[in-house]
Amino acid sequence: TLILAFETSCDETSVAVVEDGHTILSNVVATQIKSHQRFGGVVPEVASRHHIEQITDCLNLALEQAGVTYDDLSAVAVTYGPGLVGALLIGVTAAKTVAFAHNLPLLPINHMAGHIYAARFVEPIEFPALALLVSGGHTELVYMPRIGEFKIIGETRDDAAGEAYDKIGRVLGINYPAGKEVDQLAHQGQDVFDFPRAMDHDDSYDFSFSGLKSAFINTVHHADQIGETLDRSNLAASFQQAVVDVLADKTVRALHDYPVHQLILAGGVAANQGLRERLASEVAGIETTHLVKAPLALCGDNAAMVGAAAAVAFEQGQLGDATLNADPSLDFDYLER
Ligand code: ATP
Ligand code: FE
Ligand code: MG
Repeated sequence: TLILAFETSCDETSVAVVEDGHTILSNVVATQIKSHQRFGGVVPEVASRHHIEQITDCLNLALEQAGVTYDDLSAVAVTYGPGLVGALLIGVTAAKTVAFAHNLPLLPINHMAGHIYAARFVEPIEFPALALLVSGGHTELVYMPRIGEFKIIGETRDDAAGEAYDKIGRVLGINYPAGKEVDQLAHQGQDVFDFPRAMDHDDSYDFSFSGLKSAFINTVHHADQIGETLDRSNLAASFQQAVVDVLADKTVRALHDYPVHQLILAGGVAANQGLRERLASEVAGIETTHLVKAPLALCGDNAAMVGAAAAVAFEQGQLGDATLNADPSLDFDYLER
């Protein structure tokens, strides 16, 4: 099966052609980061306008790079949520138009399922599996008993991990999105500040990062007030250690209670080197489970991951029609919470 996939949920306009859910023929990603940086975050109206301007070029380029025409396609897939409603609508409208014009099945895809299925580009997913889904808007532990079934067993009660990176990054003078640069800085420093690890030892699988973010900001502001300058790399290292500790501890406990074949690490923050290394060493100690990390280049938003998830939707006959609409707060609703 050859799937044309669209992704426009946030600030990347992306169109991909994916074969059988695991081979990327093309994956065009037009990022708008530069346009949002001066505002310190994504501005929804600006995002929508960029998507409109970019989508046709991305579509043509994706088909050209894949060396295919509309006649070769089996289906058209699109992220319809969660995300920014005005941004999602551009992708949904484009996908519906192509599907209608070329008489192709339409596959509505959950963006977060897309992030998880990026693991398909490393190896086939073996069920049951558990995903640690860490991104700009989400921090979730997702249990997948069977293909196509998702159950959130834990999630953040306030900020997402990526959001916390972006907010503390701003205090360090790093442009949005700050995660990658904070990660690099962390590797040059040491964990000398004793930042809080919220909810680390309670018995839920939930997370909380706003207290850590506040502690970080207060530490920097307090030093500013007394005219002291703190070492940026030590600050970054201490922050990262606190984030990685909580994510890893909770994940290991979840693996104990939900034995699975695979732990999948996915989402924008899955690109974090500290997190990748820590989970690799934790999972090495669990004989029945192995770690599948989403490919570095496919952790952030892209349409290839949507094409990977869409192959499953195609097999399962989960089709959409002309009434498909964007759903900004779309949840995993395949299993009862
Ligand atoms: P969601 O997927 O929840 O809708 P999103 O699509 O905006 O949100 P992604 O594109 O999946 O989020 O991920 C972007 C986030 O990943 C940003 O917050 C960014 O700072 C963070 N990030 C990217 N690289 C790293 C890294 N190496 N370390 C930590 N965070 C990172
Ligand atoms: Fe995302
Ligand atoms: Mg993004």
